[in-house]
Amino acid sequence: MPVFPRISLKPEVSDYLKSIFLNKELLTAVGHQEAEQRFERLLTCLSHPPSHTCVRASTHLAPLEEIRKRLAQELSKQHLCGSSSGVSMEIVPHPCIPDVLLLPVDGPRPVESLQSEVVVGAQCGSAVLRGAHVFAPGIVASPKFMKTGDIVSVFSDIDGKCTRGATSFQGQKVFVGNGVAEMDRSAIFCTNEPTKGVAVHMTEPLYQSPSFDGVLPSLVFLQNLPSVVVGHVLGPRPGERVLDMCAAPGGKSCHIASLMKDQGEVVALDKIRNKIDRICRNAQMLCLESIKVFCFDSVKAVSRDIDKQRGTEGPPFPPESFDRVLLDAPCSGLGQRPNMASTWSLKEICSYQPLQRKLIHAAVSLLKKGGVLVYSTCTVTLAENEEQVAWALKTFPCLTLVPQDPHIGTEGMPGAGLLPDQLCLLQRFSPELSLEQTQPNTPLSHRANTDTIGFFIAKFLKN
Ligand code: SAM
Repeated sequence: MPVFPRISLKPEVSDYLKSIFLNKELLTAVGHQEAEQRFERLLTCLSHPPSHTCVRASTHLAPLEEIRKRLAQELSKQHLCGSSSGVSMEIVPHPCIPDVLLLPVDGPRPVESLQSEVVVGAQCGSAVLRGAHVFAPGIVASPKFMKTGDIVSVFSDIDGKCTRGATSFQGQKVFVGNGVAEMDRSAIFCTNEPTKGVAVHMTEPLYQSPSFDGVLPSLVFLQNLPSVVVGHVLGPRPGERVLDMCAAPGGKSCHIASLMKDQGEVVALDKIRNKIDRICRNAQMLCLESIKVFCFDSVKAVSRDIDKQRGTEGPPFPPESFDRVLLDAPCSGLGQRPNMASTWSLKEICSYQPLQRKLIHAAVSLLKKGGVLVYSTCTVTLAENEEQVAWALKTFPCLTLVPQDPHIGTEGMPGAGLLPDQLCLLQRFSPELSLEQTQPNTPLSHRANTDTIGFFIAKFLKN
């Protein structure tokens, strides 16, 4: 792992995470030294991007091999640094997931920073580390006289302290690569309307991977590997009625509809109105018509007053309305990569457990007997993962844990009182366990299974 800052966390959050990784059950299972090392590795992994880019192929529209060939053709048109004739890169089908293509990420590369500095927000900086160019809304500071064509260095304002419109920034920032300005400074900051479009075209990114902006939009969809695994674990079939309770921006809803060959119904709910459009746009882009989108608070999505026979098209729904329910829960997001700094307080991080429990209550009620509930998060805490499973099993005797297919991650983490057999049924993606596998000669498909974002999946059957 290269020298690159570890994720910076508030001390109270760092102590809390450490207490999870050094919990009594885990210490007994792996020993103190290994547990400490895992925690230290986690902090390092989180600030780095995974070593591969994962795209989900629209296999409801074309066979995987055809999509792979077309993607290779499209990417060969991109002229990346160090390649005069465009990119010719490895695009590998995942060995056991039939709709995933993997591309290696090259980095960190030895790129020198220049004098002319553009500062971008942390989210934009993370996107650049995963292959994106810099879009105008992401820029917070630029040189006073920046003109189109200038060569600039891009820095990420990891603590969000830089004032918008500044001409320089002396605070904590991390270099993410060099690029060419595609806009003058005045076009970015001196307009009444928010400016759209690429403002810096990255020519020498610290981590190099292709940009997917506008590349085969209906055939490839950028999605983290664990998120694709969720769709397969849910196992939807054509003709079923499936609920995605927290759906925006719709990556998993679209995957579910694709696995169902667009036959049946995928009800996609999200509480935030301005995120709803994203679900609709993604569904349209991927030519999926079976997704019905509603802006709704899923905690309130079940109503006993509605006649079960009559049902309703939109929420609230009568109990036992769905064959399968996905609860990809709002969470503290501490598994997201790359993430160089989190300004969240411990109180904010701990606020998710009660909300997730309310959502699980609604999920269990909305599920038909014999139906499948998948609960997932992109975080690493016990409170939002294994503890939720232990609580759900105790609160809802109708639920049992069932095996997941595929199961390519690790098992659940000890510490929440679950039995070893139960931990085996859970699936954690633990990037801190992947370092020994990230040696340069390890095949991409092997590295990809563990060098992912931190993620958690539990699958229940309702008896
Ligand atoms: N499943 C999504 C995907 O794969 O694209 C990502 C979902 S994200 C982890 C969690 C989502 O839950 C956010 O979009 C948030 O707006 C939504 N959310 C939070 N509380 C909610 C609630 N009470 N009801 C419905 N949606 C909620």
